[in-house]
Amino acid sequence: MRKINREAVGLDRRIELHKRAAKVSSYTEARVEWKRYRATVGAKALIGCLERMAGSRKRCVYCCDSRSSDIDHFKPVALDYRVAFQWKNFILICPECNRFKGSKFDLSDTGDPLLINPTEIDPWDHLIIDVETGVIAPRFSGGDFDLRGDYTLQVIAPINDEATVEGRRRTAEKYLELASLAAIEGDSKNARRAFKKAVRYDEFGLASWFAFREGSLEADFRQLRDNCPPLWRRFCVLACKQSLNSLGN
Ligand SMILES: [Zn+2]
Repeated sequence: MRKINREAVGLDRRIELHKRAAKVSSYTEARVEWKRYRATVGAKALIGCLERMAGSRKRCVYCCDSRSSDIDHFKPVALDYRVAFQWKNFILICPECNRFKGSKFDLSDTGDPLLINPTEIDPWDHLIIDVETGVIAPRFSGGDFDLRGDYTLQVIAPINDEATVEGRRRTAEKYLELASLAAIEGDSKNARRAFKKAVRYDEFGLASWFAFREGSLEADFRQLRDNCPPLWRRFCVLACKQSLNSLGN
């Protein structure tokens, strides 16, 4: 999972959503209205927005491995029909993660969703990765597992599916190799290009793990920071741009 920057949508799209929301006063009505809306040009434009937010390969915001296919309501409409037409409640997820998610939406003692919404909070605030295996786990502090991290991994089990874990492990391995090589060979056009390519094709948000989280403490990245500060800074900028969907070409 990686932090996703939600795009702003135009006034016309927001007005259309507002009008649809005003028409419904029950879950049944919301479902009917949603089916009508889903076939409109406006809905297709919003899917385009969500796909851009999901990155060049339009991956699921949870497993980051399978291609996302449709709009999902982060807070299920079955629990609150009023969120059916809220742009901030739309995310793109794959059919498998959607099947696991269903209508599960537990709240914390303070009334906040336990499920991580990657368009609102950085998943790395609640999760960690073992870069040697690719497995994601909840953070552990104060003698307990992080509630949001734990709940999200329990509900969206495909996050730690075998193939997804292997994809993450290979991505992490690539970063470590690049850091190790660059720490020895120094800043060069090739090294910059290799990092840029790695970040562009990193679907798992590991750039920010290695730039800003515990990944920066890995020996290879410590050496890169010490031996080659310009390249390290360039990598940090790329990691920032990744979460802003502004890597460019
Ligand atoms: Zn998925």
